[in-house]
Amino acid sequence: MTRDTHRVITIDGPAGAGKSTIARLLAHRLGYLYLDTGAMYRAVALAAKDKGLDKEDRELVGQLANSVSIAFVGDPDNPKILLWGKDVTDKIRVPEIDMLSSAISAIPEVREAMVRLQREMAQGRDLVAEGRDMGTVVFPWARPKFFLTASLDVRAERRLKERQERGQKASLVEVRQEMEKRDSQDQSRAVAPLRPAPDAVVIDTSHMSIEEVLAEILVMIKGMD
Ligand code: C5P
Repeated sequence: MTRDTHRVITIDGPAGAGKSTIARLLAHRLGYLYLDTGAMYRAVALAAKDKGLDKEDRELVGQLANSVSIAFVGDPDNPKILLWGKDVTDKIRVPEIDMLSSAISAIPEVREAMVRLQREMAQGRDLVAEGRDMGTVVFPWARPKFFLTASLDVRAERRLKERQERGQKASLVEVRQEMEKRDSQDQSRAVAPLRPAPDAVVIDTSHMSIEEVLAEILVMIKGMD
């Protein structure tokens, strides 16, 4: 495992807990790189779909994850994701890819490929890394580590709002059901299941505004310096 002297802050947690917004704002505030690792699993899922692969085909999906070209470009606060050089930022944010990314992310070969890529992207950079296994597996040396959570109802409402803002049709019941299924898949997989690292600070954002969460995190970071 390669590690350099740069600082890594990790933010893990289930879907809709506010990770992306907070990680993005925090990275901007600190002048660190923002790394959205969920987008990487989503890109692999899209590539598998485009190639017509069966999500259960561990060997082929694993090979694909090892050969895929993924890059982040543009505004560091709001990066675009390129898959084989093509902008797929919007294409990966659809319900089908929510579920497919969760399915393929349980394949050990896919995880190994993504972890390698994530560590490469982190080399030589101060970083805020967001995902499911940032504090437990990818950057176990990170400090501080945060685990954001919120009740299923609150998370489903937030996700519904996001979908509506993107012009996607959805019902709260549907979003809630999908989210519950995805959480349960992410928590129960054998490799790198979603859970807080033993040294993570757990923050329940159910009744907090974005500003409140960010302020709490900044206070903790300052306290550790
Ligand atoms: O964070 P986001 O919802 O974009 O992630 C999509 C899916 O990718 C998650 O449901 C999870 O299965 C997978 N993922 C993961 N490990 C990460 C980030 C995301 O397994 N570090």
